[in-house]
Amino acid sequence: MFEKVLIANRGEIALRIHRACKEMGISTVAVHSTADADAMHVRLADEAVCIGPPASKDSYLNIQAILSAATITGADAIHPGYGFLSENANFAEMVEEHGFTFIGPTPEHIRQMGDKITAKRIAEETGMPIVPGSEGSVDTVEEALKIGEHFGYPVIVKATAGGGGKGMQLVRTAEDMEVNWKMARTEALAAFGNADVYIEKFLTHPRHIEIQVLCDTHGNAVHVGERDCSLQRRNQKVLEEAPSPALNEAQRNKIGETVADAMRKMKYRGVGTVEFLYENGEFFFIEMNTRLQVEHPISEMISGLDLAREQIRVASGAPLGMTQDDIKFNGHSIECRINAEDPENFMPCPGQITDYHAPGGLSVRVDSALYTGYKVPPHYDSMIAKLIVHGANRNECLMRLRRALGEYVIGGIKSSIPLHQKLLENQDFINGDYDIKWLEKFVGLED
Ligand code: ADP
Repeated sequence: MFEKVLIANRGEIALRIHRACKEMGISTVAVHSTADADAMHVRLADEAVCIGPPASKDSYLNIQAILSAATITGADAIHPGYGFLSENANFAEMVEEHGFTFIGPTPEHIRQMGDKITAKRIAEETGMPIVPGSEGSVDTVEEALKIGEHFGYPVIVKATAGGGGKGMQLVRTAEDMEVNWKMARTEALAAFGNADVYIEKFLTHPRHIEIQVLCDTHGNAVHVGERDCSLQRRNQKVLEEAPSPALNEAQRNKIGETVADAMRKMKYRGVGTVEFLYENGEFFFIEMNTRLQVEHPISEMISGLDLAREQIRVASGAPLGMTQDDIKFNGHSIECRINAEDPENFMPCPGQITDYHAPGGLSVRVDSALYTGYKVPPHYDSMIAKLIVHGANRNECLMRLRRALGEYVIGGIKSSIPLHQKLLENQDFINGDYDIKWLEKFVGLED
């Protein structure tokens, strides 16, 4: 097992990894920008190294500075967290070339899953259901029109190198194809330096359901059930729940086993999430995230597993400590992402926390790096806390979540707590009756 892990991240995820390490007897190295000198992850870690000025590109994305910090502190392994360098195959490669273990999948798997056409091809080859669409990139408007006709409108043109919802164009009719196909290519080139696009059938009212997997380097893979992340605004998840209100046990086992089997075929290692759109009882692969995700705690709450610990264990070469039969799901869990932003217009609201009280009590978990007096810096993602609750069933979970949100005090800045409170009063949400378009309508009406 590792003796010292460098955590190449900040905020709540840096704390999450630090906590897993400490419970395993591993010492930790925090890295931080000058803007984060007073951050909680710096205070808690055993050692801390400043890696640059506030801008992410000069600090948390500064590969040379991170590798130097690992060298001078004598770390054995580097955990990338999520975001920043976590899905950068070149970084993973450099980490290993410098003699450290990268706590994540192989650079090759990161690269393959980062290219959407390759990812979709591998998904299909390993037996996962995919969205019907073009085979590979669509390089001429004539080809695009043929595909539109073949699959029937509406279709969606998507960037091969895509991410964050950029380079995507909905095409409703053949007349719109030329303009939208060109626009998607232009956007893709500007955002990713690669104009290649592909085309898929557009699903009108899907849910976003993703499967958590955990794999070791000995050929074992298990799934840890699904998360329903349909509540999104501008492709950003807002609230996630597990299990999905839309699935029954048989459906869960079937898709879970399909994905675990695909992971075994791929020889994937570490934790990962396979994202699907789900419509009319069918799953359609959209992408795979090759890292620990923001919403992993809800899977931990219903399975009792510590995914961060398992991720570190398998990275050190240990075999999985459980089989699929050992994984039992218990009750219901919901996570609210709490952002430093105006709940009415979603503008970021960085600033000083004048007063802080986190909710507690039975089955309430807060993953956050906030404290009274902390200044939320303006340079990074606005997510400042995750409130995660568990209940014996969905109803108890909702009641507990309302209670916990009511207790949460984050003084001095605006936060999205009031948005979550409104959401929890909404009948559609209470009924579990929502798809990926629902939240945008909900916040639109509320504005
Ligand atoms: P990105 O990596 O840019 O986030 P994804 O492929 O994950 O791109 O898609 C992002 C979102 O776009 C999905 O969560 C879904 O809301 C929407 N989307 C993508 N493909 C389709 C499709 N074929 N039909 C309907 N919506 C889609």
